[in-house]
Amino acid sequence: MVVKKADLTAIAACPDCGDLLAFTGKTKLFQRVVCPNCGAELEVVRTEPVELEWAYEDYDG
Ligand SMILES: [Zn+2]
Repeated sequence: MVVKKADLTAIAACPDCGDLLAFTGKTKLFQRVVCPNCGAELEVVRTEPVELEWAYEDYDG
């Protein structure tokens, strides 16, 4: 992971593979991220501390 420590705002573990995702900048609730390790689509479900869950596409019912 090539991220400068000073830029990090949060670190959270991928619920799928357990890899650590580093966040830079503002972390918002329900922000979508993709795990660079396993490619899982994740969503921020908590911000203090940051917690990730699988993001489900559920727009069309
Ligand atoms: Zn993962």
